[in-house]
Parts: sequence; structure tokens; C-alpha cells
Amino acid sequence: MEIWHRVTFGHRDGVDAEIEMLNLRYKKSPLPGGGYLIHLEVSESAPKWPVIHSMIQRTRALDISDTLFTDTEILVAPWSRLIPVFEQGYPQPEATWSAEPVTFGGECSECGIYKKEQLENFRIRKEPRLGNNSFVSLYWTYALFATPAVFAELATRKLQGFREWKVLIHKTDQISENISQIYIPEQTSADFVPEETFRRSKCPKCGAVKYFPHLRGVMRFKGKISESTTDFLLSREWFGDGHAAYREILVSKEVARLIVESKLRGVKLKPIQINP
Ligand SMILES: [Zn+2]
Repeated sequence: MEIWHRVTFGHRDGVDAEIEMLNLRYKKSPLPGGGYLIHLEVSESAPKWPVIHSMIQRTRALDISDTLFTDTEILVAPWSRLIPVFEQGYPQPEATWSAEPVTFGGECSECGIYKKEQLENFRIRKEPRLGNNSFVSLYWTYALFATPAVFAELATRKLQGFREWKVLIHKTDQISENISQIYIPEQTSADFVPEETFRRSKCPKCGAVKYFPHLRGVMRFKGKISESTTDFLLSREWFGDGHAAYREILVSKEVARLIVESKLRGVKLKPIQINP
């Protein structure tokens, strides 16, 4: 496990000389009016991390951390979070979807939590071009779609806990040949997310509770999952920042093995820890 930081300094932070002296790799992006931003990525195991960390604290730079796990760490974990990282296209009808996602019977205009569980199939504008990716998601969503080859492999390995939901090309009502949705009907039991360990917010409009995205280290849950009956689960709780709202996708070791061994692209995996 390696914790990475994506740090952004401003030109007024006065860190240019220090960055040069530390011989760090960075990217500069100009701002209107002659200013600029400095972006760099660093892991906590880097010898230069303590110095950079103190620079971040001193300047209050924007610091977004994320955690990368090794294949071995993923392969031994009983369960992992699955995070869609390849997105293409918008759910249809695009003009009204963000305000009124029909697929879910609408959403709270404040926190973005859907009013209902998924009611209808997703619609897309045109067939996606996946390149090397086996998984894809749509912008504004956390929905998981996969190629027919992935569904064939899930069937061969007798993996359970999902349904194949067809995706429709919006204008023609034709079924997409490139992707179907991995629809996950089952959710974790109540109290699976230990409230005391996650920062959360309560929506002033609808009163729903949402947890902030978990980025650093291993996400810890409380409870039990029966591995013999399912390989896919959604968290009952909602996560997200601002207007974003999603349920965590959890997958069994067998799904993780398929993704790691076949080097399937479009998602990343983060082992979770489940405490009884
Ligand atoms: Zn709300």
C-alpha cells in the first residue's frame, strides 16, 4: 500500500526555489493574469516527503491523497472496493438527466442522492469506444458497465450477485452490442459503515446522510459478508462530495482475481477490511 499525494501550489506560495532545490518533477499550468499553478505527485514513502509535507502545511496547498495497492494485497483481501476510473459519454436524455435522472426516479437537488433504486435501463447516445478498457462508467454516474467478454468470464467463473442489464442507444432503442450494465441488486446490511470513522454530512434539504469519499489507507467496515452467496454488493450508505452521490461497489476476492489476472482495465481495486 502506498499513499500518493497530488499537490497544487500557487505562484504566491513562493515554493519555486524549494521545488528546484529538491529536484522534484512538476508541471506548471499558467493562469490568466500571469500567475500559475505548480502540480506535483509524491508518495509518502519518498525520502523527500517530510519536506514536501511541511511545505503543504505551511502554504495550505491543495493536497489530494489516494492509495494504491499492490496486486498481492488485492489478491489476498477477501473483499475490495471497485472504483470505476474510465468514463465515457453521458446518460441520456442528457439535457435533463442531471436535473432529473429518470433511471432513478429523480434526485435530491441539494445532495444528489437518487430518490429510488434504479428503475430503468441506462440509455446512451452512441456505442462507446472502449480502447483497451473492459469496464466503463458514464459521467455523472457511478454505474458499472462491462463488455460481453467480461460477462462471459463472470459466467464461466460462476460469479454471483449481479444481473446483466442491457443498455439502450437512446435514439433508436437498440441494445448496445459493446456494453451491458453490471446491475447489483444487493446491499450491505445496516451499520456496515461505522459512523464514527467517517466524516459525514447531513443534507439540509432531504435529511439524508452522506459520507465523504474515502481516499487514504484501507477503508474499514463493520459486520459480515457471506462470500458463498454473492460476489457483488453495494453499500447501503451514500458517499460523495458536494452534489455527487454514489454507493460503494464491493467485490469478492474472485472478482478481484479475474480483474487482476486478466489485467482488465477501466476500474481500480482497493482492498477493504471487515471487522466482525
Ligand atoms: Zn438531499
